[in-house]
Amino acid sequence: MAGGTGRDPVNAPMIRHWCEAMGDTNPAYRGPDAIAPPTMLQAWTMGGLAGNDGRSPAHDELFALLDGEGFTSVVATDCEQEYLRPLRPGDEVTFDARVESVSARKTTKLGTGHFITTRMDVRVGGELAGTHRFRILKYAPAKPGGGARPPAAAPRRPRPVVNRDNAGFWEGVAAHRLLIQRCERCATLRFPWLPGCNACGGDAWDTVEACGDGTVYSYVVMHHPPFPAFDPPYAVGLVELAEGVRIVAGVVGVPYDKVRIGMPVRLEFLRVDDEFDLPVFNAGVGSGG
Ligand code: ZN
Repeated sequence: MAGGTGRDPVNAPMIRHWCEAMGDTNPAYRGPDAIAPPTMLQAWTMGGLAGNDGRSPAHDELFALLDGEGFTSVVATDCEQEYLRPLRPGDEVTFDARVESVSARKTTKLGTGHFITTRMDVRVGGELAGTHRFRILKYAPAKPGGGARPPAAAPRRPRPVVNRDNAGFWEGVAAHRLLIQRCERCATLRFPWLPGCNACGGDAWDTVEACGDGTVYSYVVMHHPPFPAFDPPYAVGLVELAEGVRIVAGVVGVPYDKVRIGMPVRLEFLRVDDEFDLPVFNAGVGSGG
């Protein structure tokens, strides 16, 4: 186990920067009675560029051991947080971190390895304020043609990560409907899907179906790095829907170098493979008005 004291007390400037970066305008994070956004939990424990984030000697020892066994690669898999009391400006945070569990050896598409869960408890004045669990896979990369990877079928596009917060979105996509969340309390539309409303904090929501019209708000053309199942160069747009929210999606229907900001686009659903469809936007529909 290892731990330490937060570099700075919980403070308004860091909260303000965080909210600006996240686009979070919730009034609970401003003013004399402000609380810190709960998801900032880990931020108060970070050591900065020079420090370590409370990593324990056991953690470093475990990593060295796994490196020695050939499990040299790391990929973050997920993070879970629990909040027990709000943090407020002035709170002095202490924390301790431990390796909570190491899975049995698992074989994944990436390779064979072990899932490692690190748990950090964050306290104020000895009282538990929240818990942060971070899970990684420490693995030996599968070699092309090696045992762990299935024989050379055509590479497949990555699967979407479907969870309880976005399942409704993917159900909509499967039915060829692009659904936008709408706050039941203040009617603010939000996309991508989130469990709560950034405008009012309300957690009740319903959906509206996008009409399918949009414009290219911004875009990039992907050249590098190459990903299996993608064929660069291709254009990826930040598309502003007629409803006002924005979505990142492929722009199709025109050559990648003809995509421009402000182009009208129209929603389509691309059959990616036999398992799933993706919303994409056709830019070849705007000419001739
Ligand atoms: Zn709202």
